[in-house]
Amino acid sequence: MDLYGVMGNPIEHSRSPKIHALFAEQTRQDITYEKIFVPINGFKEAVEQFKQRGGKGLNVTLPFKQDAFDLADSTSEFAKQAGAVNTLTINPSGEIVGENTDGIGLVRDLLVNQKIKIQDKAILLIGAGGAARGVIGPLLKQQPTLLHVTNRTEEKAHELKFLFHQFGSISSSGLSDIPNIKFDIVINATSASLNQNIPAISPTLISPHCFFYDMVYGNELTLFLQWVKGLGAQHYVDGKGMLLEQAAESFFIWRGVRPNTALIKDKVFE
Ligand code: NDP
Repeated sequence: MDLYGVMGNPIEHSRSPKIHALFAEQTRQDITYEKIFVPINGFKEAVEQFKQRGGKGLNVTLPFKQDAFDLADSTSEFAKQAGAVNTLTINPSGEIVGENTDGIGLVRDLLVNQKIKIQDKAILLIGAGGAARGVIGPLLKQQPTLLHVTNRTEEKAHELKFLFHQFGSISSSGLSDIPNIKFDIVINATSASLNQNIPAISPTLISPHCFFYDMVYGNELTLFLQWVKGLGAQHYVDGKGMLLEQAAESFFIWRGVRPNTALIKDKVFE
C-alpha cells in the first residue's frame, strides 16, 4: 500500500482522508491516507519523517502552504504564482515536487460541474488572502475579460494586481470603490462567513444574472450566499466542489487516474 497524508494545524476537521479513501475505492488504487497533526515549527521535520516512512505524497493545509513551497525542490507554475503549495509529491529519487491545485479545483468546479464559462466573462474576486492568491493564475489562464480583486485591506488587493498583471486583465480596489461593472461571476474568497460576517460590498453589485461562488462551505447555506439570495441572486454555490476538485487533482498527480467527484460528493458531506 502506498502512503499519503494531509498535514496541518489544526487538522482534526479535515475531510481529506475520507475524500481520498473514496477516490481510492472508486479507482481501485491501493493507498492509505493519514491525517497528520504538525506542530507550528515542525513542518520540515514532519515531512522528513514521512519521507523516511516511504510516504509518496502529501496534501498541505493551513498554516503550512508557504512552508511547503519553500521546502519543495521544484514547483509548478501555479505554485510559483501563488507562492504556496498544497500538494507535495515525493519521487522515488527523494525529490519533492510542489503543486498548488486550489485554483485548478475552483476552475474545474466552475467549468465542469457548474457549467460556467470563464472566458470573456467579468469576474469579481473578493478577498486577497492565500485562497485568492492561489486562484488568480488559473482564473486568468481562462482569459476572462477582467478579473477585479477587491479586499478589506485595500493594499493587499493592489499587491495581487501587481503580482499578476503580466498574466491577464486584472484590476484592484478596496471594498467600497469597486467599479460599477456588470460582473458575470462573483467569487467570495474571504473567510468572513466563518465569523458570521459578510464582506462590505455594495448590494447594487448583486444582480440576478450573476453567478455567485463562496469558497467557504458547510451544511447550511453560507452567510454570504444567504445574503445574495436575499438580494435576488438565482445562481449560487458554495466551495464543496472546489474542495473535492482540488483533492481530485492531487489524486490525479499522484496516481495518474482522475476520480469522478460527482459520485462521492454526497458521501463526503453526509
Ligand atoms: P486568509 O486568512 O489568508 O485570508 C482571509 C481573507 O478574508 C482576507 O482577504 C481578509 O481580508 C478577508 N476577510 C476576513 N474577514 C473579513 C470580513 N469580515 N470582511 C471582509 N473581508 C474579510 O484565508 P484564506 O485566503 O486561506 O481562506 C479564505 C477562505 O477560503 C477560508 O474561509 C477558507 O476556508 C476558504 N477556502 C476554501 C477552499 C475550498 O476548497 N473550498 C480552499 C481554500 C480556502 P483582510 O486582508 O482585510 O484581512
